[in-house]
Amino acid sequence: MSDKMLRPKIVEARPSREEAEDAVRVLLRWTGDDPKREGLIDTPSRVVRAYEEFFAGYESDAEDELRRTFEETEGYDEMVLLRGIGFESHCEHHMVPIIGTAHVAYLPRNKVVGISKLARVVDIFAKRLQTQEIMTVQIAEAINNALSPRGVAVLVDAEHQCMTTRGIHKPGVSTVTSHMIGAFRENPEARREFLAMV
Ligand SMILES: [Zn+2]
Repeated sequence: MSDKMLRPKIVEARPSREEAEDAVRVLLRWTGDDPKREGLIDTPSRVVRAYEEFFAGYESDAEDELRRTFEETEGYDEMVLLRGIGFESHCEHHMVPIIGTAHVAYLPRNKVVGISKLARVVDIFAKRLQTQEIMTVQIAEAINNALSPRGVAVLVDAEHQCMTTRGIHKPGVSTVTSHMIGAFRENPEARREFLAMV
């Protein structure tokens, strides 16, 4: 995966907060409502603040986050698995939520990382405009680049609100994607162990 995909750069100058709020007012008018009515007066500023939370991942670098590793593994070389990391993301096609769970595992080679950092990496990529497929690869590649482990496995299971609340309207359908690197890709035993544990 290209470096650009792991660290998207915003090429155009970022608009001001005021410009962003104006854009929300345009969308409110597009719905057919009146942005000047009482209930909607503060909506543009709320939406812009919510966007700061939804898309906070653009401010962070996942590989930097993983840089603080512990070399003293006491010979631990079995799978490290963080199971059931809940996340909220937004699809890049409709800007509506993708809500799901990620399972992340790696097979250490000399280095381990604080467990919470794996959850943090999921959040950094989730809090951007995404497709589930790309997010799955990004999580695995960032861990692989930062830790050079013997293998990385990532499985993501999520519900896309662009499929449940619009379009084909299929609530309850979830999408499962996975990306395996190293031993998890080459060794069916390692892959089976991961899949059995998640
Ligand atoms: Zn979508």
